[in-house]
Parts: sequence; structure tokens; C-alpha cells
Amino acid sequence: MTHVLKPLPYAHDALEPHYDAETLAIHHGKHHQAYVNNLNALLADHPDLAAKSLEDLLKSLDQVPATIRQKVLNNAGGVWNHDFFWESMGPGKGGAPSGKLADRINAAFGDFETFKARFKESALAQFGSGWTWLIETADGVEIQNTSNQDCPLSKGLKPLLTVDVWEHAYYLKFQNRRPDWVDSWWNVVDWDAVAKRMG
Ligand code: MN
Repeated sequence: MTHVLKPLPYAHDALEPHYDAETLAIHHGKHHQAYVNNLNALLADHPDLAAKSLEDLLKSLDQVPATIRQKVLNNAGGVWNHDFFWESMGPGKGGAPSGKLADRINAAFGDFETFKARFKESALAQFGSGWTWLIETADGVEIQNTSNQDCPLSKGLKPLLTVDVWEHAYYLKFQNRRPDWVDSWWNVVDWDAVAKRMG
């Protein structure tokens, strides 16, 4: 298959003022598109790999020749991580989770505010580029970081939520202030979408 850039599930300005339209347009139209283009170029001479879905490719990196494995991870991860990120946000969202998701967060972290503090700490502790994730485990939820475009699917993990902490995700508006980006991002998290990902 030829991988394609999925359209954003909302307009570029839909997440204003929390996520600005200019950053969102460049992030999706330039950065995300580049991962799609690079992945297709990498797989052009590998029809067996090109036939796989993005998820299958990321879950079976051991079947990718060692000479291109890291590049495939970088770009397939770059495509999948961003799809997951866009679908974790929405206009008019924010607030707090409810139901089983809230129960699991409270069981793991004590309460929602403590969870948010721990998640932000993890996002700020990521040195360089990467992502912070809420991961569903066998008996609850936990926070993990990944570097660059490493993808939780390749590690056998089940992600529920993510924030992009690459500088390209926030630099135009927030410059070096990653803490302000994370604070702002909470206002657009779509907790219903996150809850639907739970097993
Ligand atoms: Mn990004």
C-alpha cells in the first residue's frame, strides 16, 4: 500500500487558542507529511513491507532488513504517532475523564490532578525529542516516554493518550516553554477518544 497523510479530524484553527492554527498547519502539512513521503520512498523497493499496514509494520520491525530498520521505525513511527496524537485532541474538549478511565487513573495516581502533574513531569523530563504516553497495562495505566519517533506498538505496548514534545510541536507559539505547551494541551485532550481505546 502507499501510505497517505490522513486529513486532520478538525480545521487548523479548531483548537485555538490552546493549539494555534499556524503550528497545527505546519505540523500536519509539513512535518507529518514528510514522514509519509519518507516512508513511501523507503518501502518503494520492498513490496512485502509496503503491503503491510502501518500497525503491522511497526509491530514486526524484526522482519525489516537491518539496513533500513531504524529509518522505517523513524518514519512509520512518525506517521502513526501523529495520527494517534491528532485523534487524541478535539475542539471544545479538555476537562477530565470519567467512568472506568477515571477509576484507573485514580487507582494509579491517587487523583486526576496528581496524574496531570506526573504526566507533565514526564514530558518535561524527556531530553530532546519524543513523546509522553499514557499506557494501558494488564492491571491499570502508567506513564512512559519514547524518544524521537519510537512507537509504543513496537514495544508491545497499548497507548491510550499522547503528547508530542518535539520542539516542532510547540516552538512557534511557546518557543522554549515546554511546560506552557503541556499546560495548554490539556485543554484540547479528548477524553472520550482516550476512553474508547481502553480494552
Ligand atoms: Mn510532531
